[in-house]
Amino acid sequence: MSSSPEDPSLRIQQLEKRLERERRAREEAENIAERATRDLYERIQELERIRVQLSEAKEQADRANQAKSAFLANMSHEIRTPLTAIIGLAYLTMRRADEPRLRKSLSDIHESGNHLLGLVSDILDLSKLEADKIVLDDVDLAIDGVLERVSTMTAARAQAQGLELAFSLDPRVPRQVRGDPVRLAQILLNYVSNAIKFTERGEITVRVGIEEQDAESALLRFSVSDTGIGISPDDLSRLFRPFEQVDGSDTRSHGGSGLGLAICRRLAERMGGSVGATSEPGRGSVFWFTTRLRIARRAVDFSPRRDIEGRRILVVDDNPTARTVISGLLSSFPVHVETAASGAEAVAHVVAAEKAGRPFHVLLLDWRMPELDGIATARRIRELVPQSSCPAVLLITAHGREEALGAAAEAGIEVVISKPVTESTLIDSLVRAISGRESPLGEQALGDARAARVDDFADSLRGRRVLVVDDVPMNLEIIRGLLEVAGCTVETADSGLEAVERARKGELDVILMDIQMPVMDGVTAAQEIRRLPGCERLPVIAVTANVLESDHRHYRASGISEIIAKPIEPATLYATVARHAPGGARAPLSASAADPAAPSGHIPLFDVEAALGFLGGNRDLLVRSARMFVASNEHDVEQILALIAAADLKTASRRFHRLKGSAAMLGCRRLSEVSAALERDLKAADAKAPADHRLRDFSEAMGQTLEALRQHAAAPPH
Ligand code: ADP
Repeated sequence: MSSSPEDPSLRIQQLEKRLERERRAREEAENIAERATRDLYERIQELERIRVQLSEAKEQADRANQAKSAFLANMSHEIRTPLTAIIGLAYLTMRRADEPRLRKSLSDIHESGNHLLGLVSDILDLSKLEADKIVLDDVDLAIDGVLERVSTMTAARAQAQGLELAFSLDPRVPRQVRGDPVRLAQILLNYVSNAIKFTERGEITVRVGIEEQDAESALLRFSVSDTGIGISPDDLSRLFRPFEQVDGSDTRSHGGSGLGLAICRRLAERMGGSVGATSEPGRGSVFWFTTRLRIARRAVDFSPRRDIEGRRILVVDDNPTARTVISGLLSSFPVHVETAASGAEAVAHVVAAEKAGRPFHVLLLDWRMPELDGIATARRIRELVPQSSCPAVLLITAHGREEALGAAAEAGIEVVISKPVTESTLIDSLVRAISGRESPLGEQALGDARAARVDDFADSLRGRRVLVVDDVPMNLEIIRGLLEVAGCTVETADSGLEAVERARKGELDVILMDIQMPVMDGVTAAQEIRRLPGCERLPVIAVTANVLESDHRHYRASGISEIIAKPIEPATLYATVARHAPGGARAPLSASAADPAAPSGHIPLFDVEAALGFLGGNRDLLVRSARMFVASNEHDVEQILALIAAADLKTASRRFHRLKGSAAMLGCRRLSEVSAALERDLKAADAKAPADHRLRDFSEAMGQTLEALRQHAAAPPH
């Protein structure tokens, strides 16, 4: 019998089977889901384990990386410290050694030491850049300050090779920007050093131009071109990579790590720019980099106040409002300002002031004035006033600067500024005019004027009282030795505390301060010294192997005036101390352009300590030398005056030259300085007989010096 589809029992059976199937399927699905969930859960757990492991590994890697950076920094410090000693001692011993072979060996040690130090610094820099650990400074800086630093450090080498080193700064480049001056100089120094290394003859030109500018920032382009061996196109493409040196054989003869350009590239990129080079083998290369720098809101220079302090300035303008405005701008600075309403009045003022022995240092001359205009006024003054007392001239123009520049250049006027005159441009230009830094065309051709030979600084360092503070006796010895070679009178202290006590007694020109010292560190000592009466402005220069910019900022905020890196490069030491010593030179450039008419009253007549410094501390020798000086120079005044009266200015100049040197050797600084100024004036091609008051100064200094030396020679020995 066949069952019909409607058979209910069959239907129930079918349904039960279906239910059973579905139940199984559900169970199966549940099992699968459970397994999948378990699986997923396990995977999540696994992932979590991996995540934890990864983060542990990352932490470990970070720790390792930090440890590596710290290790590198430490190691470089550890290597630098003994190297510093080797380099410094080699240099000192070399200066004292008489025997040529010994000098050569010591010079080799000195050179190799410096080379090794360069390598250590490069490796440290590159590893910091790779680890993104370099912190760039963001401070107000003057582009010419950076160029000056580069010039100071390279000019001597270029000159020694007979290469001309020139600097050209596009006048449109904002002089005051914000950035990292040390790193900017580092790239330029690398380029310039390479250019010197790979150029046998010809010239090296450093140019600074502007690519783009808006209200906030400027993209500057720095380039260094040389007339050297050049680089083949193939090799050009490999530059700027670490450890690439174009030619193995060259490299061996020229030395170098091959890291310099790689560091430059990374630094420029960090500063928002790029690098590149073009070259023609056999003809020379151009290495460039760009960097975006913010424009500084206020004027900065090295320390404009110090540069213009005490200067006598004459403001000449036919417009009374302009006179008031310009004098007003100057009123917050420590300068003496007078005004004149016409060119003729200005000429009369300048001549009268010169006659009275109080010449003006700077003339701020309006260009367009009725009758005698600014340029004619400057010319007239040049005719009437001896060169040495001629004020620096700053031409102010309401007309196009370019037009004025041309006319001013013809008249030998150094600096031109446009109206409306702002405080920052005015002060900046004053500093520029005083230190004679801008050449007539607004271009800078500084190189040759800046042969940064160490001896150049000796004149401005002689007799300076410097306190050197360091807890390591050998460091004290090295810095003392370097400074004494340059004629400084050096005292030492081995802790910050002792330095503060010494500073309290006064009569110091500069303090060189180590930072890390037991008892009291250099930063605390600087803060304490700043609080002492009379020491608010005493220059405290930190000498440190610490290269961290953040620390440098902290030092400056604590009253440190400037920072010199250990190991000390003698030229840097001399330049820095000279710049900070009161009345000292800013650099060789400004030393040569130093104001010859600066008052000499504060200069000691006879500095026994300085004299003993020159004579190796030998008091008997000083007495003998004093007697000899008196005997051979007693009649100098009459003789030199007779030479001048007979218009034999050349011989007179030579006599002053001799006097300058021998007086300085005996610590007779006032006589030496007066003689130096007269020598300079009489040497000029268009020299005229010096003004009477200057000869009186000389005669007076001579008389007093002879008297002081006679007394010293007569006194019983100590
Ligand atoms: P190094 O420290 O070896 O000089 P750099 O990275 O500064 O390292 O330079 C890499 C190489 O590039 C140099 O060794 C040299 O072969 C080449 N080079 C750099 N500058 C110049 C240049 N002005 N003229 C010719 N070759 C250059």
